[in-house]
Amino acid sequence: MNHLEQSIPLTTNTTTDLVQQKTFWGEFLNDAGKEMSSSQFRTWIKPLAPLGLDQDNFIIAAPNQFKLDWVKNQFINKITNLAETYLPPGTQVRFIVDSKACSISEAEQSLAPSFIGSSSVSEDILASQDELADDIEGVSFQINVDDFSKLNPNLTFETFVNGKANQLARAAAVQVANNPGTSYNPMFLYGGVGLGKTHLIHAVGNFLLQQKPNAKIRYIHAEQYVSDVVRAYQQKAFDKFKSYYHSLDLLLIDDIQFFSGKSRTQEEFFYAFEALTSNKAQVIITSDTYPKEMDGIDDRLISRFDSGLTVAIEPPELEMRVAILMKKAQAEFVPMSEDVAFFIAKHLRSNIRELEGALRKIMAYVRFHGKEVNIDVAKEALKDLLSIQNRQISVENIQKAVADFYSIKVADMYSKKRPANIAKPRQIAMYIAKELTQKSLPEIGELFGGRDHTTVLHAVRRIAEARIHDSQLNHELHVLEQTLKA
Ligand code: ADP
Ligand code: MG
Repeated sequence: MNHLEQSIPLTTNTTTDLVQQKTFWGEFLNDAGKEMSSSQFRTWIKPLAPLGLDQDNFIIAAPNQFKLDWVKNQFINKITNLAETYLPPGTQVRFIVDSKACSISEAEQSLAPSFIGSSSVSEDILASQDELADDIEGVSFQINVDDFSKLNPNLTFETFVNGKANQLARAAAVQVANNPGTSYNPMFLYGGVGLGKTHLIHAVGNFLLQQKPNAKIRYIHAEQYVSDVVRAYQQKAFDKFKSYYHSLDLLLIDDIQFFSGKSRTQEEFFYAFEALTSNKAQVIITSDTYPKEMDGIDDRLISRFDSGLTVAIEPPELEMRVAILMKKAQAEFVPMSEDVAFFIAKHLRSNIRELEGALRKIMAYVRFHGKEVNIDVAKEALKDLLSIQNRQISVENIQKAVADFYSIKVADMYSKKRPANIAKPRQIAMYIAKELTQKSLPEIGELFGGRDHTTVLHAVRRIAEARIHDSQLNHELHVLEQTLKA
């Protein structure tokens, strides 16, 4: 669904009015977007809420007087002109301060991050641009139609350390790399940040490229794909867009959760997906969560995602963290003994990206001081990192604080009981655990009586959402967070 539809509570009568209002607002966003940087746009324009027509007035809400004045100052002429063009004759534009309307509208938008970097046009406003597309004199459309795969040659199976946590994902990737388009299509890989999803799909691409140097392979991050759709739209170059994407042998699309709420992109991707899979071209998708748990994604896409092989990548266990550290250190010609690797791996538990960061620190330290790597050196080099880890709030503390606050038993945090007076504090505790600790969703689930990570994800989203609208809850969370941080 598009956020304009959501955020204009239509006080109006006819569909024509609705289309007019959407076009008007879409045009305004578009114009404003062209005139400012994306961060300015986020600060000043995104928080506005178009409330729609109230008799002869088109009402725009701003979150506070300051923003209201600023926007009015900057844009009143533009807005008046646009209103004359798109709204019924005699319509006045009126600004009001309504922080609540703005935060609802913005929350809806942020569920579907819609502002796209440099192109300054959000996909959400495309719908309202339908008729206007004819006027856009685009520079000729350019995606990388040369066979540039965007693969990072360093991310291969050889450099990918195996462990229990990624065993299944790796096996599936190897299988797909050996039988593209025929064994599992699509392959859907999901898991938390820094666990190796991007690495693994590049590995498939690099492997295939080695086997078949002429294969048409493309790696693309979902955000970039969204931008490509927007650009194709602006420049009316969908034929070119389609013929490029539909002719690939292997499409690697990363972090597809970015498609959330982008219905036009999803539609294009759906066609690409259908074309590719019916040509027996391989599609590999990554996401931070599994298909059925994805928000803001069309059901028919979800069912396609789920129709091949869906496989998770888990946080690395201790031995794997050790192996990764040693392998990476060796690759940098700074050999690291097992006891040093164990020391670091025991203290840094969340993901592989974090381990790499620690390693970089140690390397910089030993190069600068001309020392060998040993435990003392590691302690010294990682002083800041380790002290943050030590000061860290534990999930146990959170559970205790939340249970006290809502007068329930700490044991209820792990129990399977589900009455609302227990379930809600439990969700709150999960939410705070995600916010204030480095723990992954599966780790949090484990600490809440062996719950599934999807349960935790659900709780986190639920509370994050509720907090926006429910000021009482927001206040309670604030108090809890402050108490825990103190
Ligand atoms: P994700 O895409 O899941 O967020 P990445 O693939 O970007 O994670 O991985 C983060 C970093 O950790 C990358 O530099 C990657 O090369 C490295 N990495 C991840 N998994 C492994 C692994 N099993 N072996 C070696 N390096 C890994
Ligand atoms: Mg990634």
